[in-house]
Amino acid sequence: MIRMLTIDALTHSYPGGHTAVDDLSLAVEAGELVTVVGPSGCGKSTLLRCIAGLQRPTGGRVLLNGDEIRDVPDSLAMVFQSYGRSLLPWLSVRDNVALVLRHRYGSRRERRAAALEALAEVGLADAAAKHPGQLSGGMQQRVAIARALAYGPKLLLMDEPFGSVDAQTREDLEDLLLALRARTPVTVVLVTHDIDESVYLGDRVVVLTGAPGRVLAELPVGLPADRDQIKTRQDPEFVRLRAEVGRLVREK
Ligand code: ADP
Repeated sequence: MIRMLTIDALTHSYPGGHTAVDDLSLAVEAGELVTVVGPSGCGKSTLLRCIAGLQRPTGGRVLLNGDEIRDVPDSLAMVFQSYGRSLLPWLSVRDNVALVLRHRYGSRRERRAAALEALAEVGLADAAAKHPGQLSGGMQQRVAIARALAYGPKLLLMDEPFGSVDAQTREDLEDLLLALRARTPVTVVLVTHDIDESVYLGDRVVVLTGAPGRVLAELPVGLPADRDQIKTRQDPEFVRLRAEVGRLVREK
């Protein structure tokens, strides 16, 4: 196994002295999908922003392939909960995706072709010419995922990515993520406060303590890679893990 990400005694205090993350250590292997679960306000987003290089740790270090992250790494993409704010409403869906590819491809034609390909991957080829406002929330989040993947990231950070869609769409997007991830060698760190989601998606579930966040437990998910919304959720291993994660989250 190749270590991709090392979080070494990460601490982040905001100006004014509020410590959001305290002495948090975690390692992520290349190709893993790690879910991070913990109560609201325990520092999950702060952790992701430190990994993304959007915030500097006030203590400890974050290493990507052995190098300390000091800026937003080139090999990284991020998907946020609020798809509405992450897409540019005045651009077509295709141009929203093509926008992030301007450093990858020389010509506009190449960028638009790559954007179309990424949209096809998430089942949205037919919506390419539409504007985000013409799409449902779930479709907009698919565009955000297509945009992140079109960029060809080695590391994908997802911050409550399915938190603002209805339950059925959420399940569809969870399965889309698993399908995309099976086709590409991307490493994923996904933050959620949804215990079932953390188990359903994860190769490993990392449970954080209440604020300030530290790692309370790491649980390997012994479920087959090929997950199914109905069968997997009935699997005794799923039932056992969700109870265990639930107990840990409550214990903090
Ligand atoms: P989570 O994602 O687990 O809900 P956050 O990382 O968003 O947690 O926040 C952790 C704590 O840090 C919260 O108490 C929050 O109020 C605080 N916090 C988050 N962002 C800022 C900021 N920019 N300035 C000051 N405090 C912040």
